Amino acid sequence: MARPVYELELVESTHLAISTLGLVFHVDNPPEFEAGQFVSLLFEHNAESLKRSYSIASSPDKLRNECLLEIAIGLVPGGAASEHFANAKVGDKFQMSGPFGALTLPKDMPERLIMVGTGTGVAPYRSMFPQLEQLTQQGIKIHILMGARNRGNIFYREDFQSLPANSQPVIFETCLSREETVDPSAGEHKGYVQERLSKLDLTPEKDLVYLCGNPPMIDDTVKYLTDLGFGPRQIKREKYTFSR
Ligand SMILES: Cc1cc2nc3c(=O)[nH]c(=O)nc-3n(C[C@H](O)[C@H](O)[C@H](O)COP(=O)(O)OP(=O)(O)OC[C@H]3O[C@@H](n4cnc5c(N)ncnc54)[C@H](O)[C@@H]3O)c2cc1C
Repeated sequence: MARPVYELELVESTHLAISTLGLVFHVDNPPEFEAGQFVSLLFEHNAESLKRSYSIASSPDKLRNECLLEIAIGLVPGGAASEHFANAKVGDKFQMSGPFGALTLPKDMPERLIMVGTGTGVAPYRSMFPQLEQLTQQGIKIHILMGARNRGNIFYREDFQSLPANSQPVIFETCLSREETVDPSAGEHKGYVQERLSKLDLTPEKDLVYLCGNPPMIDDTVKYLTDLGFGPRQIKREKYTFSR
């Protein structure tokens, strides 16, 4: 049976960071999804039918109650979808299939959730906001690491930092690989997320690690975690591989 396709209309396009767009779509008769999942957007570009996947950056409640769905798009030079979305106007129509993916919250909670995203790879964690807030009330520690080249590529910082500090605060830190100086008091660290992870005393007994975004970062980190004794059940991942 063919997968259902949903009709979308672009209602807002903003720059979240230097080369990152935040897009908001209105979805007709939207499907249910689980926070952390992604959708595929279908559109015509230069007379070619294209399909690209994007993590959902907004909550299931927002889609259910307001029919609105947000995504964050990192613009790739020369990229077909990048060019298409950079030039898209409010009112433009798209189609969507999905939701897909299993980067969702587990039933059995660990002591600590480590959530790593490079660039737009933090989007799925933003869709989990209402649940993350509840988890902190249950005493679950949440540590979010966002990797980017420099400060100008960081976005959603205020959103993550606005998560209320209940019995356990949510820690949001950035790892800046090309920034000369960083401000540790603002949660900034020099280097790649892998270097910061090595300082977090990770253990498979208490941690569940989420990895999302750049495939080399995910491969590197999975190898590091495997060497520490983490098995497949203690690592959840979503690789942003290029569509073809
Ligand atoms: C499950 C999943 C979820 C995804 N979620 C997101 C998301 O939330 N936000 C998001 O921005 N993207 C996401 N992606 C990636 C997205 O689907 C596209 O691949 C991306 O937007 C680039 O598409 P494009 O058409 O602009 O580039 P293409 O025309 O596909 O590629 C153009 C050129 O750029 C290179 N290239 C493509 N992407 C990158 C990159 N990221 N870094 C460096 N070079 C690149 C290609 O090798 C190619 O040479 C996701 C991918 C998957 C599989």
